[in-house]
Amino acid sequence: TVGVVCLDKKGHMTAATSTSGLFMKKRGRVGDSPICGSGLYVDSQVGGAVATGLGEDIMKGCLSYEAVRLMESGIDPQTAAEKAVFNFSEKLRQRSGKAGAISLVCINNKGEWGVGTNVEFSFVVATDDSMPKVYLAHPEN
Ligand code: ASP
Repeated sequence: TVGVVCLDKKGHMTAATSTSGLFMKKRGRVGDSPICGSGLYVDSQVGGAVATGLGEDIMKGCLSYEAVRLMESGIDPQTAAEKAVFNFSEKLRQRSGKAGAISLVCINNKGEWGVGTNVEFSFVVATDDSMPKVYLAHPEN
């Protein structure tokens, strides 16, 4: 999946995702990527998020919405992304003994960003003021 969250100079925000889905997926499968709230979610008053990984798990937690909801409650984007991914991964592990790969990036409407992942995950941050920079994120626990 390629996911993008953007903030323009007027404070408008947008999010987009594009995916080929999962390898060897069943015909007709729809993953999280096109599902608002799961693969992507944005509210210009708050911020936006996009997710990648095992869509079946991401959808169960509506994780992009969850990250934006956490930011709306006053939590910074880094903490919101970590909480959304780690809390839900933990819930999945407790309930079924396993959690699929889940990675999520989010930014708030001030341009502050965060990332949460339960696998190794690379992403890019691009701004008007600097060249795009590639980061590699690791799970915290
Ligand atoms: N999230 C996508 C899906 O489940 C797959 C991916 O991110 O690679 O369809």
